[in-house]
Amino acid sequence: NNIEITDEDLIYYRKQHLGKSLSLQYKAPIRVVRGAGQYLMDQYGRKYLDTVNNVAHVGHEHYAVVKAGQEQMALINTNSRYLHKNINALAKELAETLPPELSVLHFVNSGSEANELAIRMVKANTRERDIIASEVGYHGNSNMCIDISSYKFDGKGGNGAPEYTHIFPLPDKFRGKYRGKDTADKYVEEVQKQIDKVHKKGRGVGAFIIEPIISCGGQIELPEGFLTKAYKQIRDVGGLCISDEVQVGCGRVGKTFWGFQLHNVTPDIVTIGKPLGNGHPIAAVACTQQVADKFANGMEYFNTFGGNPVSCAIATQVLQTVKKEKLQENALEVGEYLKSELKQLSEEFPIIGDVRGQGLFLGIELIDSDMNPLATKTDYLANRMKDYGILMSTDGPDYNVLKIKPPMVFTKENAKELIFYLKKIFAENFMQL
Ligand code: PMP
Repeated sequence: NNIEITDEDLIYYRKQHLGKSLSLQYKAPIRVVRGAGQYLMDQYGRKYLDTVNNVAHVGHEHYAVVKAGQEQMALINTNSRYLHKNINALAKELAETLPPELSVLHFVNSGSEANELAIRMVKANTRERDIIASEVGYHGNSNMCIDISSYKFDGKGGNGAPEYTHIFPLPDKFRGKYRGKDTADKYVEEVQKQIDKVHKKGRGVGAFIIEPIISCGGQIELPEGFLTKAYKQIRDVGGLCISDEVQVGCGRVGKTFWGFQLHNVTPDIVTIGKPLGNGHPIAAVACTQQVADKFANGMEYFNTFGGNPVSCAIATQVLQTVKKEKLQENALEVGEYLKSELKQLSEEFPIIGDVRGQGLFLGIELIDSDMNPLATKTDYLANRMKDYGILMSTDGPDYNVLKIKPPMVFTKENAKELIFYLKKIFAENFMQL
């Protein structure tokens, strides 16, 4: 990554030889050469505060995590058909964080693979393939995952919902189909409509999949009481409930270790990804003994890399670091401070229509006085923040939500710095127009 190779050279080669559907972030893309904690560094040694990377969960290049991987890599790395203590140790570490019902683990390499496996489990268990999911949900890049991801099939290049996918409206109490307090029952009715639709086709429901806070939807917190009722409806008709914790899991939401615990429910299947390896590709599926038993119908589940000793050493160290460094507690404390500061900012700058999220998984939504989304301003804001050395990302169906989901070592000082620059930019002419 030396500077004799220019950014233009790298961009030119990418354009010629890497897939055209890969994108680059920011108008002037950043080249990263180092990471440390909540900071990234470019080739000129410029430091950036990272509020985007929920993969570098315990901090970029955390010493203990790097060491765990390096040491195991020097000893042995192979598939899980051999006995090795690391896969058991990781299963044990994860199981300790989960409700006792979710006692069986399968290890894979990405969030997409986790959701892909979850759907295979659903099919083996229920013999049904109809899936109910939320509008603007995203669950991964494989064929099956795209088929249940409205964020993709309802977006550019998509062809709408496949025959076996049933989408209910984004349960967004701010700008969704039903707004304000007490919308849970309305959205539960929408789930029921999808169940009825499946039954009318003469089929049964396989599963209901949702994130506890809908990330690509723009950090949408589910209405209070929604998940309890929706899970009951699905289970009453024989379906399974999947919680996609790929983005929000492992302590990020602060109050609880897993997002579903915010809603007092226990899913049948939980999918875990991004944060588990702190950047190393490892993911997991946790399920009940019953789901696991029915999945083991004679066909072997083999995964060349899933659960290998190196990945397991890394993930075990990540979970231990979350505990040792009290990062869930930090997410709660710093997240609540940041959320309240953002709320104050929204009083000063009315284009901040909504501030939401839990722990270090927050979003602010920009709208005009008629509740129209302000995508251009959101994009401007993210790019201007970069000028001040702060990396932010945007999302939501209308691209008007600024997302905050930093490494969990993010401090109160970092939050203050973030607020300082946000305030400065919100006061700029372009934002005021
Ligand atoms: N589920 C959710 C909620 C995600 O956000 C993502 C990735 N953005 C995935 C699944 C897929 O994970 P991966 O990219 O690791 O395959």
